[in-house]
Amino acid sequence: MNAAVRAVTGAQKAAQLIAAMSFAFAAHAGSRCAPADCAPGRASVARVEAVYADWLDAGSAVGTIDSGLTARVDGRGRSVWAARLRELTARLDAALATVDAAALAPRDASVLGAIRKGIRDSAPDVPAADAGHPAPGCADAARPGADLDTLQAALYACFEEIGNHIDFDGRPIVRTTALQELQQVADGERRKGLFLALSPLWLAVNGADTEDSPYRRMMRLNGVALQKSGASPIDDAAVTLGIAPPLVEQWLMRILEAWRAQSQGGPLEPWDYWYASAAASRELSPAISRASVLATSKRFFRDLGADLDRLGVRHDLDPRPGKAPLAYTEQIRIGRRVGNAWRPATARVSANYEQGGLFVLNELIHEDGHAVHYAAVRTRPAYFSLGDDLFFEAFADVPAWSSSEPQWQQKYLGSHAAEQSALRELFSNVMLDAAWSLFELRMLADPAADPNQVWTAITSRYLNIVPHPELSWWALRVQLVRWPGYMINYGLGSVVTADIRQRIRESIGSFDTGNPRWYPWLSAHLLRFGSSVDTAHLLQQFLGRAVSPDAILTQLRRAGSVQVPARQHLGQAAVEQSHRLIDVALVDHQRGHEADRALSAGQ
Ligand SMILES: [Zn+2]
Repeated sequence: MNAAVRAVTGAQKAAQLIAAMSFAFAAHAGSRCAPADCAPGRASVARVEAVYADWLDAGSAVGTIDSGLTARVDGRGRSVWAARLRELTARLDAALATVDAAALAPRDASVLGAIRKGIRDSAPDVPAADAGHPAPGCADAARPGADLDTLQAALYACFEEIGNHIDFDGRPIVRTTALQELQQVADGERRKGLFLALSPLWLAVNGADTEDSPYRRMMRLNGVALQKSGASPIDDAAVTLGIAPPLVEQWLMRILEAWRAQSQGGPLEPWDYWYASAAASRELSPAISRASVLATSKRFFRDLGADLDRLGVRHDLDPRPGKAPLAYTEQIRIGRRVGNAWRPATARVSANYEQGGLFVLNELIHEDGHAVHYAAVRTRPAYFSLGDDLFFEAFADVPAWSSSEPQWQQKYLGSHAAEQSALRELFSNVMLDAAWSLFELRMLADPAADPNQVWTAITSRYLNIVPHPELSWWALRVQLVRWPGYMINYGLGSVVTADIRQRIRESIGSFDTGNPRWYPWLSAHLLRFGSSVDTAHLLQQFLGRAVSPDAILTQLRRAGSVQVPARQHLGQAAVEQSHRLIDVALVDHQRGHEADRALSAGQ
């Protein structure tokens, strides 16, 4: 966005947007154009955009079918969509080749830039596997000399191959279930056992934390690639918020310091971190069955004026072999004008839920937040997107955080936890995200750093967690290995989430127990713009001022202090003894893991 566009008001912006949208369709349709629409190259950009819209739809359809949700999209199967995608890719390349970018007016250059970015963003993360080149598996991460793409794809595979099969009491559970169980299991030794059952994943990701571990090799290669391209996830986050890059670290440290100031008592063992702040979940989760979570999320969104069924949101929530090992939301098709009518985007939510509970419910509402965001976008195809990563992740938490409000719990669950307890649980997870953000910021700044030392320093200072540099327990989030720097969107995003929530309350009133104005009002003021407006400008317009950490600092004060439950309640051995046990457990898990690998390699 240029300076002139920054200066316009929201109303003008919307009018410009509509003008820009209607132009696109006029240009597709006609051979004639008004003089203002006859800028050099405009027709060629319009041709590119028309093919691009079809290409996005075809790619989304293939992705939807490959996800396993359904065998057909709009009545067509995979082979039809794949053939169409190939044909459109060739047509898109050809159309792009006809554009003389240097001759374009600024508005057309912006459209072309958005399309080129959209093409880069839509490129498959993992190169398509074929018989000669199977997709990397977890074992490929251990291969010396693996390149960056292979390492990232292989480490991602570890989260499915190992992370979706955590051994808990002799049965395999997925990572989300393991994290939720860490909130629930009352017996301290069992909790520690479950925590250590995650260590095969940590070992696959970071070996013995030596310089040649898969993660450390990946981060060094990633550092070289970033240096070469000039890209920086941290600078991107700063641009998104319209702040100076050094403020990213300062804000993270400020909110973490505020949290630290509320911690009381001696340090917690990492396997007790979730349990110590999850009293609300333990109280409420028994009433939240696996079967009820989707209906509860649907009911809440209906009360917010966003009927998920009417918006065509599809859900794929059961675990199955080979399924993506994380919760995510994607478009099934983009929103676009068809004839004279707007055809909204539809979205699908994918997750691996074996059980219900507050943790799962909170995550599902977050994903459904992405889904309603997709449906609200009203832009020409070039700008169809949810906007910057930080912005759309922050927005998805706007409804999700409501599930930690006692009023919400009373209405949707029939009972509620005490305010301090409910918010302490929410923010202990938010602060863990902030800790991961700071971890990534520091690893990106120094890719040769020892990740276990970096993580230990952060978690012992800010989260009051006993140092365990012998455990790579930071390796719990798939984003860390697949998209280094992505966690910044969650940690710093919490600042934006709190700020947006505050602004909504001031403008249309409370929404924690529903508010039919919520979706229409947010669609008009925040969600419709795709990537047609830069986020810093959009947030400035929406908030009426620059983003500030004040709102989250206010919320943190509502949360009760994290108190270490008495040691006997945690059922925990002395620290010296537990160190010894961890060493033993690690060696055992390492052996077990290697045995597994040898087995699969031999099959
Ligand atoms: Zn998300």
